[in-house]
Amino acid sequence: MTSLDHFAAAKLASLDAASLRRQLRPVLRRQNAVVERNGQRLISFSCNDYLNLSTHPGVIAASMAATRQYGAGAGASRLVTGDHPLYRDLELRLAALKSTGDAVVFGSGYLANTGIIPVLAGEGDAIFIDELAHACIWAGAKLSGAAVVMFRHNDLDHLASRLTAQRWRHALIATDGVFSMDGDLAPIPALAALAAEHGAWLMTDDAHGVGVLNAGRGSAHGASVPLQMGTLSKAIGSYGGYLCASKAVCDLIRNRARSFIYTTGLPPGVVAASIASLDIIAADAAFCALPVRKARRFTTALGLPDAQSPIVPLILGSAEAALAAQTRLEAEGFLVAAIRPPTVPEGTSRLRFAFAAAHEDAEIQRLAALVRDLVPVVAA
Ligand SMILES: *Cc1c(COP(=O)(O)O)cnc(C)c1O
Repeated sequence: MTSLDHFAAAKLASLDAASLRRQLRPVLRRQNAVVERNGQRLISFSCNDYLNLSTHPGVIAASMAATRQYGAGAGASRLVTGDHPLYRDLELRLAALKSTGDAVVFGSGYLANTGIIPVLAGEGDAIFIDELAHACIWAGAKLSGAAVVMFRHNDLDHLASRLTAQRWRHALIATDGVFSMDGDLAPIPALAALAAEHGAWLMTDDAHGVGVLNAGRGSAHGASVPLQMGTLSKAIGSYGGYLCASKAVCDLIRNRARSFIYTTGLPPGVVAASIASLDIIAADAAFCALPVRKARRFTTALGLPDAQSPIVPLILGSAEAALAAQTRLEAEGFLVAAIRPPTVPEGTSRLRFAFAAAHEDAEIQRLAALVRDLVPVVAA
């Protein structure tokens, strides 16, 4: 073995020893939250496709038509020749959904955060981030060169004290709107008020809110949030990321964000799928409300606090316990992912249930009954 292979093998062995090694396992995704793995049919409670739009016939048809019309790939960065006409159409729909002056679309949510944040903050500035915010917010902050300051989860007093203690020229406050591994919501109106009081800029990441909260408008709807980013890869059922903001901010991002400039545009079929999904979302508030309603059926059945989003965590502690619970549910026909460090803090490994519009109530009741029986066993 070369020294490089020794290095890799030793790293993998330590992950194995801690039950933290990840494996890719091929999954065939079917209609309506059904997946197949190793020939086994499972009902997935692990997809972020909350409205099942990734397999919606109208969305697929729109994507195929755009591929035929414009080709399979964008061919270049948007700023060169990759800006096919569907892009602007998508940005206008996003701005309308979020009631902002403009929107700018990126290759993914991860690319959006790593591109936006370094444009808005640099040396001499400070970025205040909720401790449970998504990895790509931290990655963007690190790239910016600004001081990165963590505040305790949803703790406004802690944030206020940090805003006062740190010296800064510009300050950016960044948080998830819906926390991806906990399913709880950021106190966005109060954060907006605190940001205004301190002259800081608030950015919310609506990856798990758009399409499912506030008639699909997302977690920041009705609050004053100048920077609303999100993804097209979850409830929208497609791929890509975006920032909804003022026209001036979006124009600056198009000019300066490195993950916008130095990367190829999204394929036309992907952009067309997002447009078709957004049209469905804008037209049907009752449909958008279904994932949270389904999640509440589950929390009610288990006597847990009401779900606030489509995401419900069940914290089991050790990585082994979470994996054992996942295996037991899989044997019963349910795919529920075990989430382990470093995705979640040490000692908080969990099952993460993600509810979707197409989940049938009877399936949810059966899952809840299994979980009720299972949890004392795996926790013991
Ligand atoms: C999934 C997620 C992202 C990344 O979005 P992609 O489009 O999948 O890259 C960003 N932020 C949060 C909170 C997420 O959950």
